[in-house]
Amino acid sequence: MLGSRYTLSVEILPQNTAENIAYVEYYANDIFIGRDSGSGSFDFMAQALGDHRFQACVVVVGRENDAPIESDYSDVVTHRFPTADEIEERFGEQMNELWELSKAIGSAEYTFEIAAVIWLDTRIGYGDPFTLEHRPSEAYPYTLQEFGAPLGEYQDEVYGGDPRLGSKWVVGIFHTHPSWHNAPFPRVVGRSAEDTPPANGIPAWVMDYEADEWDAYGVPYITPRGARTASGKLERYGGNGRIK
Ligand SMILES: [Zn+2]
Repeated sequence: MLGSRYTLSVEILPQNTAENIAYVEYYANDIFIGRDSGSGSFDFMAQALGDHRFQACVVVVGRENDAPIESDYSDVVTHRFPTADEIEERFGEQMNELWELSKAIGSAEYTFEIAAVIWLDTRIGYGDPFTLEHRPSEAYPYTLQEFGAPLGEYQDEVYGGDPRLGSKWVVGIFHTHPSWHNAPFPRVVGRSAEDTPPANGIPAWVMDYEADEWDAYGVPYITPRGARTASGKLERYGGNGRIK
């Protein structure tokens, strides 16, 4: 997966050849990423920061003429984005917390939809590259017919080719539907017509109430009274994981 770490291990055998070695160099996609000197065995950590294709290489350089003695390439690995399941496992709890927050801040006058963008950002280096960014919440009066989760703009910041340069990708989006325990009338629940799948297979989630009423056509509703006790329901739409 993008952001994964690899350890490149080198062991120099037999031991007495170490004195002929000047240093060991590490490459990712043929770009220099580090160097070790000394003797014996070395470990170097490389991370899949910015390119889907990843191939590591270790070059042992000898003292004589600074010439490579030995080099070894790893298999070519193609890094994928996290799947919807992996993201949900990782951030499901935080999605729940945002849902609870939306209910807590809903007042007699205003209701809130909360939105979040889930990022994979490898620019920070060797740390945890995943974050859930809670976007600013907007207050809506109950009489508003169209609620819109204030997801706002989200844009990748991608650098091509060089594995030393991390990039930032959107790997999921999330929003809640308005809290309803203070509302003056029932509303329809569940994914709305505006909840269209994002591009590139990016997964999306909406959190809404379990319905407590259905109309003659089977359309599910939540009543203000039902909203006081109804549990939340996380619904997934969009792709199973970003594809490019
Ligand atoms: Zn929605």
